[in-house]
Amino acid sequence: MPMAHLLINGVLREAADGRTFPNVNPATEESIGVAPDAGREDADAAIAAARHTFDNTTWSQDHQFRAHCLRQLRDGLYAEQENLRQILVQEAGVPVALTHSIWLDTILDAVSYWADLATSYPYEVQMSSRATLAGVTSQRTVLREPIGVVAAITPWNYPLPLNVFKLAAALAAGCTAILKPAPDTPWSGTALGRIIAERTDIPAGVVNVVTGAAPRLGEVLVQDPRVDMITFTGSTGVGKRIMAAAADNVTRVCLELGGKSANIILDDADLPSLAAQIAGVCAHAGQGCALTTRLLLPRSRYDEGLAITQAAFESLRCGDPSDPDVIVGPVMNATQRDRILSLIDKGKQEARLVVGGGRPGYMPVGFYVEPTLFADVSPDAVIAQEEIFGPVLVVIPYDNDEDAVRIANNSVFGLSAAVHSPDTGRALSVARRLRTGTVGINGAVWLAADTPFGGYKQSGLGRELGADGFAEFLETKSIAVPG
Ligand code: NAD
Repeated sequence: MPMAHLLINGVLREAADGRTFPNVNPATEESIGVAPDAGREDADAAIAAARHTFDNTTWSQDHQFRAHCLRQLRDGLYAEQENLRQILVQEAGVPVALTHSIWLDTILDAVSYWADLATSYPYEVQMSSRATLAGVTSQRTVLREPIGVVAAITPWNYPLPLNVFKLAAALAAGCTAILKPAPDTPWSGTALGRIIAERTDIPAGVVNVVTGAAPRLGEVLVQDPRVDMITFTGSTGVGKRIMAAAADNVTRVCLELGGKSANIILDDADLPSLAAQIAGVCAHAGQGCALTTRLLLPRSRYDEGLAITQAAFESLRCGDPSDPDVIVGPVMNATQRDRILSLIDKGKQEARLVVGGGRPGYMPVGFYVEPTLFADVSPDAVIAQEEIFGPVLVVIPYDNDEDAVRIANNSVFGLSAAVHSPDTGRALSVARRLRTGTVGINGAVWLAADTPFGGYKQSGLGRELGADGFAEFLETKSIAVPG
């Protein structure tokens, strides 16, 4: 791949001290190139550029211009769609089949949503005439203004969409931004920076992209008082550290964190038709925050459900992500693989291993883990509580709907869930009792540009996408004049 570049104050360049770090293709374990290893000096320049541009240009007030720039960005992304597809396959091991859906193709037009919001959002609301609490009347106007400089920090598992969602919403709102992609996936972030620099009128300093090998780079961004907001997607552990660091400057945080979501199959469900949906938990080797990694089967149909799930898992094979028939590619790196394998070992002590359980002998090169199925799992088992972030499903029996809700909610996470029943009313009643930010009923998809996404409990704080996600990037100002 061509050398990746930082984008700082409109200039595509190397790190100030010229340092780079290698990037490895998880399917081949071979280097695909080097990315700039930005240091404190680069982070400082990026923050200074974003701050200066926000404070001294008309970017934050010119809604029409921002909409124009976002449409250019959308068109630029479309123009480089095939290049972006190759990047996702090579840097993150995303199966090419998945890039035809929410990993790439279907998210590009979402930029139009933010382009439209840039001009259509009610930034100014006139309140009705009413006495104030002080007993006098006054005319009050509520303004929504961009919060300012945003640090956007993203993970490796869903890199391009998250970079796009965060930047597009921040820019639509009138903010300026510093994007810091994960060390494992610098290319989709730097490609976005290059597209912005080369294909749009987005002014210098509005978007800055910094890549680095170590967490230190992210720490510099979240501790800087010139940053007004941190939008972070990643693990719950790092999210907690960021929230603590942000407290020093009372910086706003929007956190999209981990999950351990339940897939609840009610006892009237058509089980055979659910095999593909259940096995979908292994897509992209199970590296998805909202994947339903706990399968809750009714005890009355447990053996039938388990047999169907076992057959589905036995038919899954890991493979080269550039093969269009593959949906289970490699996991991100050796550290992730070893972490998953150690949790699988833990699972072998606390539950019944049904399928998989190790590295696939037929894929000797690459960071692969077999699709793995555990049955008879206790709701409190480590493998039922920890986010494994690999192709691992745990099956938990339950007695009745009440029990299913209780088990589903028995988690520090609350990101997502799925419910299956031909009786939609019954499924909805279960969905309403789940403490999660999203629920899909009978395979319906909630991911959409206009629909808020985020977590309850330790799955996050705030929302991404939709009007709620847009409002995260706004401050509220109430003005009163006599009258
Ligand atoms: P991670 O938390 O290790 O890293 C995420 C980002 O934070 C990276 O860019 C990393 O460099 C940076 N970072 C690390 N330490 C930092 C610090 N102290 N200060 C500032 N930045 C720091 O996550 P990951 O391993 O890249 O991604 C996997 C995790 O992301 C999983 O837990 C997954 O559930 C979660 N995730 C959540 C969502 C969601 O929307 N809720 C979506 C995708 C992934």
